[in-house]
Amino acid sequence: MTCRSISILGATGSIGASTLDLIRRQREQWRVVALTANGNAADLARLAREFGAELAVVADESALPALREALADSGIEAAGGADALVAAASLEADITVAAIVGCAGLAPTMAAIEQGRTVALANKEALVSAGDVMTAAVARHGTTLLPVDSEHNAIFQCLAGNDPAHVRSITLTASGGPFRDWSVQQLAAATPAQAVKHPNWDMGAKISVDSATMFNKGLELIEAHHLFPVGLDKLRIVVHPQSVVHSMVEYRDGSTLAQLGPSDMRVPIASCLAWPQRMDTPCDPLDLAALGELTFRAPDEDRFPATRLCRQAAEAGGAAPAVLNAANEIAVAAFLAGHLPFTRIAVMVEETLGCYAPGAPVSLGDVIAIDAEARSAARRLMELA
Ligand code: NDP
Repeated sequence: MTCRSISILGATGSIGASTLDLIRRQREQWRVVALTANGNAADLARLAREFGAELAVVADESALPALREALADSGIEAAGGADALVAAASLEADITVAAIVGCAGLAPTMAAIEQGRTVALANKEALVSAGDVMTAAVARHGTTLLPVDSEHNAIFQCLAGNDPAHVRSITLTASGGPFRDWSVQQLAAATPAQAVKHPNWDMGAKISVDSATMFNKGLELIEAHHLFPVGLDKLRIVVHPQSVVHSMVEYRDGSTLAQLGPSDMRVPIASCLAWPQRMDTPCDPLDLAALGELTFRAPDEDRFPATRLCRQAAEAGGAAPAVLNAANEIAVAAFLAGHLPFTRIAVMVEETLGCYAPGAPVSLGDVIAIDAEARSAARRLMELA
């Protein structure tokens, strides 16, 4: 196999670690161009040294002196700040993994897309906020956009070789998160420690809270709407506590294709790294007999209104998904800091959508401005509450 080059935006995170674990197992097949983090200079420097990266970038410029010191004498270039992050994302690489959390990943992800090569997208908030602006850039630059999110990766695999015109419906599965069976009273008292303890997946803090509120599934619905434009009315959500069926596509003849696999992000990441081929992963094979049963149920939008809010934002289109995403990021950060009750996250998002309704974004600059203003609106609402 020929050596391929890779950059990882968000290398110190959970997706970054899973990606690098796969690279580590076939080290001779990869040349690591750029690795980035926000402020975690120590881990970034350790990874950059281990993988012989050409460039290491911290988005938070105040972490640059520590990065420089940790990389002294390594021959690895160190850089810091927002512009350096975008410059790193613009470097030529056969594949760029976009795994920064939140809308902070939008500008670098767009820079990677503009290279017209292959982008493996984990950073769902960027696609939710930029929607049409991002998909237009993908088309304009002839970029191959591969979905890392397990559900979208499953759909991508189930669509392969089929005509989207024959799709009757696409069903995203949701684990339901750690609070899936909790009462409204229990949810009101849920703590950050309980919310980040996902029953099936080991993920970063923000997506774990999103999973608990079901905003993760709602964001994924919007993500699917952009990645697989079959029409919102054909997109469904079903709760599947075992997280074995990662999503399904139903065709007009009544055939439903599903992708199954272990709850380990290395499986969808490997699918992107090797696409259109396949590669080995260290994940245990599925043992369906040991699992015994797979169950499914309808989502409960009374206890978890997030999926309803996301569907409404997708239907409204324009700036609504960007406003929703920004308000959710602010509310999740406030919840994690102990400043907002769990059940207020969805309320805050709905109130922000109600009080700030800008026009549709047509450029990256528009999306970034809407994101910033929606964050201010959400913060103001929280202060008033
Ligand atoms: P983590 O919180 O584990 O990691 C986030 C990464 O982004 C870290 O490298 C972090 O750097 C970096 N980062 C954080 N803030 C900024 C910023 N302002 N500017 C630049 N870089 C920043 O997140 P995950 O790996 O869990 O998730 C990453 C993305 O992938 C999210 O969009 C998530 O929704 C999506 N995803 C994650 C899955 C998972 O299993 N984890 C599954 C499917 C999708 P530092 O370490 O310095 O803070």
